Amino acid sequence: MHAKNLSFWERKSFFSNIDIAIIGSGLVGLSAAIYLKEKDPNLNVVIFERGSIPTGASTRNAGFACFGSLTELMDDLKSQSEDEVFSLVEKRWRGLQRLRERIGDKNLDFQPNGNFELFKNEEATLFQNCKDQLDFFNKKVSQAIGQNERVYEVVDSQIDNFGFKNIKHLIKNNFEGQINTGKMMSSLLDLAIEKGVRIFNGVSIKEINDYSDKVHFLTENGWEISANRVLVTTNGFSKKLIKDLDVTPARNQVLITKPIQNLKVKGCFHYDCGYVYFRNVGNRILLGGARNLAKEAETTDQFGTTSLMKNALLEILKTTILPNQKIEVEQWWSGILGVGNKKAPIVEMISKNVGVGVRMGGMGVAIGSLIGEEGANLILK
Ligand SMILES: Cc1cc2nc3c(=O)[nH]c(=O)nc-3n(C[C@H](O)[C@H](O)[C@H](O)COP(=O)(O)OP(=O)(O)OC[C@H]3O[C@@H](n4cnc5c(N)ncnc54)[C@H](O)[C@@H]3O)c2cc1C
Repeated sequence: MHAKNLSFWERKSFFSNIDIAIIGSGLVGLSAAIYLKEKDPNLNVVIFERGSIPTGASTRNAGFACFGSLTELMDDLKSQSEDEVFSLVEKRWRGLQRLRERIGDKNLDFQPNGNFELFKNEEATLFQNCKDQLDFFNKKVSQAIGQNERVYEVVDSQIDNFGFKNIKHLIKNNFEGQINTGKMMSSLLDLAIEKGVRIFNGVSIKEINDYSDKVHFLTENGWEISANRVLVTTNGFSKKLIKDLDVTPARNQVLITKPIQNLKVKGCFHYDCGYVYFRNVGNRILLGGARNLAKEAETTDQFGTTSLMKNALLEILKTTILPNQKIEVEQWWSGILGVGNKKAPIVEMISKNVGVGVRMGGMGVAIGSLIGEEGANLILK
């Protein structure tokens, strides 16, 4: 053992008798930890997080409380069965309800303003396809989320209210909303600590070995720690830890404007088949995505922004969302998603005592709470 390793005292007082170690303190990791303590307050649940605060997707996302836009679901049906697609809708809906119950709408700053999908002038055929299938999707999605009213409706008359340019059609999802991502995560952290979960920040896990009676893991700073069971919730960063998992990192770049006087835009919006998303945050606009313009370059787990993506997003902001207005960007940032060949999370045991809850795609705000719980139940078995 080298000098960097834990002293006898450190090991005994901080890291002995860990029942369950969770790697990563994003929405999934925190939800799993809180759920475990709710099930059994005596469990020693410890989270290891490499960032000073959670630093992946959960603190950096757009905060859409969404379960499926029309073009998204139509696209999903090309590669998945109806059962798969609508049970994922149901899960996203249930996940959102769980998140709201757990934290409370006030702490989430939940606003049910609806989500809208924009169709450009040149997207007439796509829009017509959506319109033709409106009744089918209204029936299926209403069933999935247990609501009687129509979920989707064409609201072209509202285009002018928002002040958009070059937009011909608008379809509203009446049951989606928006949350404040920062408030969500800081409330979850408070709740986890209140329940007795111990969180160690600045600890990056490098290697995990399941020895059947115990799991040993090695940290980047040379510590060797053990736990009875481990749940890995590192999402877009998972491949570094577990090479065989079908999880690919996908960076998304985001901007937020300075406050805008008399901002007309209110709600969450999908543009360009969902590749681009924007919403109001009070009297600012948050805009992100457009990863389809540089798929290869954005397949990375490195944070950062590029001039290609920045220019593309600024162009949309100036020509479509806020035409003829003076706009100043307050900040750019990026977040890392975990995606894969299938649009579904991976929740499974990868060895006797190690489970994973990863690959949340762009749905983690919605499904993260449930996936955390599923992962927790799996490692409790
Ligand atoms: C820009 C952007 C916009 C998005 N918008 C939306 C949206 O509007 N609606 C929606 O539903 N979803 C959205 N998402 C997706 C959503 O944010 C994610 O699906 C969700 O937050 C994933 O949560 P997680 O806990 O699985 O992962 P993360 O939040 O990424 O957490 C993983 C954690 O693991 C830690 N970690 C990684 N490696 C290690 C290691 N070796 N050792 C220790 N710790 C480690 C990381 O630091 C991180 O904190 C968006 C994502 C991005 C990036």
